[in-house]
Amino acid sequence: MVSIRWKLVFMYLSLVFIVMLVSGTFIIVSISAQENERARQELEQYAAYIEEQVIYQYDDPSQFSGGLAGLVITNPSQSNLRGHILDKDGNTVASSLTTDSSSYLSFNGSAVISALAGEDRFVSGKREADGNGQVKEWISYAHSVKDASGKVEYVVYVQMDGESSRQSLNRVTSTILIASLLALLLAGAVGMLFANTITDPITVLTKKANLLARGKLEQHATVKSNDEIGQLTRSFNTMARELRKNVTEVESQRDKLEIVLQNMTDGVLAFDENGILIHANKICYDMLEIDDILISLDWFLEKLSLDRSCIKPGGKERVVSQDGKYISVTLVPYSAGNRLNGVIVVLHDITRHRQLDDMRKEFVANVSHEIGTPLTTIKGYAELLIDGAIDDREVAMDFLKEIDVAADRMKLLRDDLLDLSRFDTKVNKFNFERDDLVELIDGCVRQNVVVASQKNQTITFKRPKKPMYIMADPARVNQAITNIISNSVKYSPENAAIRISARETDKNYCVSIADNGIGMPKEALGRIFERFYRVDKARSRQMGGNGLGLAIVKEIMDAHRGSIRVKSEEGKGTEMILTFPKAPKENSQNV
Ligand code: ADP
Repeated sequence: MVSIRWKLVFMYLSLVFIVMLVSGTFIIVSISAQENERARQELEQYAAYIEEQVIYQYDDPSQFSGGLAGLVITNPSQSNLRGHILDKDGNTVASSLTTDSSSYLSFNGSAVISALAGEDRFVSGKREADGNGQVKEWISYAHSVKDASGKVEYVVYVQMDGESSRQSLNRVTSTILIASLLALLLAGAVGMLFANTITDPITVLTKKANLLARGKLEQHATVKSNDEIGQLTRSFNTMARELRKNVTEVESQRDKLEIVLQNMTDGVLAFDENGILIHANKICYDMLEIDDILISLDWFLEKLSLDRSCIKPGGKERVVSQDGKYISVTLVPYSAGNRLNGVIVVLHDITRHRQLDDMRKEFVANVSHEIGTPLTTIKGYAELLIDGAIDDREVAMDFLKEIDVAADRMKLLRDDLLDLSRFDTKVNKFNFERDDLVELIDGCVRQNVVVASQKNQTITFKRPKKPMYIMADPARVNQAITNIISNSVKYSPENAAIRISARETDKNYCVSIADNGIGMPKEALGRIFERFYRVDKARSRQMGGNGLGLAIVKEIMDAHRGSIRVKSEEGKGTEMILTFPKAPKENSQNV
């Protein structure tokens, strides 16, 4: 590619060359014409002298030679002139070069021939040998001298040495050539400078435009002139500024969208028209449990066992189960005009929703079942009473006692359910106060000693010496500990020993309630705090349990920012460990 700079310089040089060529030729041609004219005048004048002062002066041609030699030439430049007189036959009869007639030169050039025919002729630029045999350029003029009748009598043939005029013309030519060369050099330099003033800013703009195209938006070109290039620079700066502004705006929009997408709890995937993934927020990878790899629409559909028929305008929700999770998937095609541009997929993890739903169903089933047993009892005995058992006072009393027990069970179930529901809805307000855990345990032990003694069981509490202050709702802590003690009583045989102890750790107080009862299998340990969970339903029911006791304990411990742990071995016994955070120190209590 030829750059503008060189094009401009070339144009400049061509222009100067043409000007120099035309003007040089003109000068040379006009000088040469002038020289010719001057030579012609001189030669005509000389020929006229010869005619007047030699031919007309002397009658005898033999005297012409002397006359020619004596001819005074007034013009100094005429020193390079030579004159010859030829008779009508063209023979030289006199010459200014020599008086020796034997060494006269003979002439038969076109000028001489023409003059012999009666017509004067001027010839220039002809090369001929001079008297010494040297070949030179001669300018010559032949003039015919006629008699009265008009017949040619003599021919005056004059010559001028054209060498000097040719040399001077050559000098002029070479001067013009040198001047042209100099002018071309100068024009080249000036052209280069001129071209640079145009091309330099264009080069700078081109470089900056290239950087701009590569994404380096911080481009600014200095405006150095007010011409078209200055305007171009100004337009470039405006364009760069607008581009920066637009790109920043687009980037900020993109960032905002990205923040929204990345922080959404729903997964969003976008595929292009070829099914190639173009965007996916992080949650998608967590939900689908895949690595951060490029996935295609087909791969995605296959993984979720879906097909392309799910992609419908408006989007129909499908629920898929994936590694124990439930995910609702909505596939929506997006298009510009009639062309399908791709597919947007929205993933929503509904596992928790499903779990809650399942729990709710299970809960309703459990409650119905728990109510069913005492209800059947009440209904059965009531019918027997109606059918006549009422008349037998003793039997009737037994039946009524059974009805009472069943009603008590229902009441207990209702109370427990109500408690749990209040914990769930946070209706149950806990009245926290600074209490000594040791005293609370002591109270519980005293309350349960009687029940335990019915099975001949012992409850021992290794009472710590120091008080253990916790922030507690005493009634609820009592409820929790009592639930655990009564479980130990229920699931331990006669004569069993229930041991209670309390110890202090860095930040907490831990209460241990251990029995040497039937214990629990390992797989049950993780589930005993679930509502209605029982290791052995029949045994629990027989013991008057409804599977809600430990669930309530868990809720109470959570409300106290504490925790409950279980250690148990089947056939050996169970230990429940309650952990309460220590109450903040209070001066009056600490004394
Ligand atoms: P329940 O009313 O059935 O006792 P809980 O929620 O109090 O309900 O206990 C849940 C289940 O945990 C019980 O059914 C029982 O199988 C088991 N369990 C609780 N405490 C003990 C214990 N000390 N020894 C053995 N099993 C226990």
